[in-house]
Amino acid sequence: MGASDPEVMTDAAENGERLSGNTPQPAPGFEVRAPADGSVIASLPTQGSEDVRAAVGRLRRNQPAWEGLGPSGRGHWLGRMRDWLFDNHDRVASLLQRETGKPWQEAALEIPTAIDVIEYYRKRAKEFLADSHPRPHSLLTASKRLTITCRPYSVVGVICPWNFPILIALADAAPALLAGAAVAIKPSELTPLATREIVRGWREDLGAPGVLEVLTGTAATGAALVDEADYVQFTGSTDTGRKIAQRAAEQLIPYSLELGGKDAMIVLADADLERAANGAVWGGMANCGQACTSVERVYVEAPVHDEFVALVAERVRGLRHGAGRPSFDADVGALSSESQLAIVERHVSEALAQGARALVGGRRADLPGACFEPTVLVDVEQSMSCMREETFGPTLPVMKVKDVEEAIRLANDSSYGLSASIWTRDRARGEHLARRLEVGAVNVNDIFTNIFTFPVPQAGWKDSGVGARLGGAHGIRKYCRPQAITATRLTPRSELPWYPYTARKGRLALHLTRFLLARDWRRRLGRRRR
Ligand code: NAD
Repeated sequence: MGASDPEVMTDAAENGERLSGNTPQPAPGFEVRAPADGSVIASLPTQGSEDVRAAVGRLRRNQPAWEGLGPSGRGHWLGRMRDWLFDNHDRVASLLQRETGKPWQEAALEIPTAIDVIEYYRKRAKEFLADSHPRPHSLLTASKRLTITCRPYSVVGVICPWNFPILIALADAAPALLAGAAVAIKPSELTPLATREIVRGWREDLGAPGVLEVLTGTAATGAALVDEADYVQFTGSTDTGRKIAQRAAEQLIPYSLELGGKDAMIVLADADLERAANGAVWGGMANCGQACTSVERVYVEAPVHDEFVALVAERVRGLRHGAGRPSFDADVGALSSESQLAIVERHVSEALAQGARALVGGRRADLPGACFEPTVLVDVEQSMSCMREETFGPTLPVMKVKDVEEAIRLANDSSYGLSASIWTRDRARGEHLARRLEVGAVNVNDIFTNIFTFPVPQAGWKDSGVGARLGGAHGIRKYCRPQAITATRLTPRSELPWYPYTARKGRLALHLTRFLLARDWRRRLGRRRR
């Protein structure tokens, strides 16, 4: 589609009217721009608190019937979403590519990756949500049948960033829907188009139940959603995460926060350097370095530092830089926006001014749009902004360390604690060292694996988050409140602790509890033996 595609503009206007609901005045809109060339792709309405309240009200009304479908009935509709995504793949991936500036391969693969999450939870929802029946813990409750059942929150608000618009929206929305909740997605104002199209497909093409809505707008729209939802699943910056936590606390609603990161890569002297260099380059440059788990800083043991750096520099020099074309001819695309580019420029220029060297890149690329050259920095110091703040760009600052102890100390010297990687031929040692890192996930000789391995949780420590995304049963149960159902099997007319209180019943209750809890019979037996 062209930069001023009339289809998108018209559709945006129509959708704006439809989604604006009963707002008396048309909501002020915002423009979505293509980072690859800066052109305006669409204008969308900013949905205000009235729109958000109306949308959440619709979801709340539709949710009980959705919950009533059970895991299989809900799985049917998620299966239809899977098929729709495959059938509309190229069209949706094109929208995604235009609004993000990703290379085609990354835009194209985001959809199957999201489908992988849908399928993981669709196939297991029944098992993960099944009632459990714990055994009574004492004689006093022995006659009770105990049940713990998972009852979904009515409306889950999913607030998303701009780096993986489809993957993050669906990786959170699909388990919530399968849990039986209704979902309102608030995409980033920079990248709302692909998500909006998927929700349109769900409602209009599939005729699926009205339990999925998209709310377009800026921070105020997200804040309004926090005010209305029963649970908030947020992915974005640490600063916004704090604001959401405060607002959710006012509403007394639970939340899960997936926030920023400053992932360290530790390369030990015995590492397979070819694999480590390839991993570093992909880990640092994929999605133009704009993944929460991107390699943001590399610590290399002194004996292999120079060889590792040479391998990395050679590979980064070979990357094909370009954005916006729907073909497999680019490895690194554009940054999401000019403001993101400004952060990357600042980190690199500050590092250079403080004595670092750029072996490759180091400046804005000579391309249209928000493009920064894939960059390798050496002679960096831990105190530099490129080693301390989240850069979120195509940069790899590499630092020589004396030994593994220094590497671990520096890796832990961060306010973030999302994930990290360790590279060594001794896998057992790598797994052992992983336990000394203050992060929610460690990949040994690998990059991003935990993100694509849904049985393990994606949980940020420290300033990187609260709660966890995915992680087997947790990933769907987190959208549910546990409900305890206790049913008594024996039904005498009255029970010992019930009214009336009498001295006889009271003493009996005390003796009984002492007998059971203090295990007096054992103590007395022991005394007799002595
Ligand atoms: P952001 O915090 O600026 O915005 C994220 C979303 O929150 C957007 O939809 C935005 O409109 C909304 N928002 C902003 N202020 C709000 C408020 N006060 N109340 C409610 N909603 C509000 O983040 P971003 O710049 O879009 O995304 C980049 C960040 O996301 C990076 O820090 C990155 O590390 C992080 N991220 C984390 C993960 C993870 O899983 N840990 C994954 C991807 C991205």
